[in-house]
Amino acid sequence: MKNVVLLGSTGSIGTSTLKVVEDLPDQLRLVGLAAGGNADLLTAQARRHSPRAISILAPDKVAGLQAELPGMRVLCGDAGLLELATMPEADIVLIAIVGTAGLAPALAAIRAGKDIAVASKEILVMAGDIVMSEARRHGVRVLAVDSEHSAIFQCLDGKPTESIRSLWLTASGGPFRDRTRWTPEALAQVTLEQALKHPSWVMGRKITIDSATLFNKGLEMIEARWLFDIGMDRVRVVVHPQSIVHSMVEFIDGSIISQMSTPDMCLPIQYALTYPARARTDRVTTNFARIGTLTFEEPDTERFPALELARRAGEVGGTLPAVFNAANEVAVERFCNRSIGFLDITRVVRHVMDRHATIDSPDLPAILAADRWARTEAAA
Ligand code: NDP
Repeated sequence: MKNVVLLGSTGSIGTSTLKVVEDLPDQLRLVGLAAGGNADLLTAQARRHSPRAISILAPDKVAGLQAELPGMRVLCGDAGLLELATMPEADIVLIAIVGTAGLAPALAAIRAGKDIAVASKEILVMAGDIVMSEARRHGVRVLAVDSEHSAIFQCLDGKPTESIRSLWLTASGGPFRDRTRWTPEALAQVTLEQALKHPSWVMGRKITIDSATLFNKGLEMIEARWLFDIGMDRVRVVVHPQSIVHSMVEFIDGSIISQMSTPDMCLPIQYALTYPARARTDRVTTNFARIGTLTFEEPDTERFPALELARRAGEVGGTLPAVFNAANEVAVERFCNRSIGFLDITRVVRHVMDRHATIDSPDLPAILAADRWARTEAAA
């Protein structure tokens, strides 16, 4: 039995994780749950799974939760996340909080000797070097929840970095892939509602917008660089609209291994939680005859410059990836508030990156300072 702490239990990844745990009651047990503002769903989850403790972001919701769940340990805020991440009972901490709030709990979990499963790619983009070196120092695993990185991890199957020619991240291309319909002029007019309609995945709001701009793929390129300890020049992207091939590894002998399935986040979540074992479930089945055709195309970096910005951030390194990530978070927020247009998201990020004086080999305070600076710049 593995004891799991789940940070971000009320979100898209969080609710899929609960399904995985319910599929495997003899193998997985939830011992801690944390949410942002959705106290009702957190209450229902806590009733169903009886974790040792729960945590909510807002202090004013603690009393209500405590009244609903007598006898349950109810924590709150950043301190609550840290306490859950370091619970003595926990074997693995799954971090599925949107944005960068998961960084401190991730580091705390690692230092407490816990394996971590990372959905929140932003923390690896910001501080991948620190997270991965702390994990090595404490002898714990950093397991990918992102479907692309789970795919690469499964294809690599322990092979050393020297055996890799390229990692191929697949991208669905998002809702604006069709270049004849979504010309630069049409992209300039994109509404929030249009950007929130993803063709193959149902996800939280921020990552859905990131998928429409391709910033999500950019973040994933940098995430791959750290998870698999590989240069950015060997991280490639190919558009694959069917989202069946989740990613591929091209080895130095020219052989390419891919991982495939119908798209369902329960699969990579389950693999991260049961690793190194595979557990039997019927949730995901793939019918190739029904799928029929798998296609691949070059990403359009002119209409979607996020990929080139990500490559630059990953190649320059230092504090630039944190700036890339933070500026994007703020720009997405501004687009969701309808204060900037769709194409302005990329403009804001490029502008903030251009103004940043990168610090090489930054420590955590320098990364956090760059993150704060970029947020202020991107909000201006
Ligand atoms: P959602 O917006 O659906 O969920 C975010 C979760 O984080 C919610 O449970 C929210 O709580 C919680 N939360 C937000 N801030 C805090 C905080 N400060 N403290 C505690 N909890 C907090 O996002 P997703 O599930 O889509 O994405 C989560 C992460 O996983 C992102 O980094 C995303 O990039 C990554 N990811 C997502 C995929 C997907 O398919 N959705 C695929 C691969 C990666 P509440 O709702 O209660 O406010």
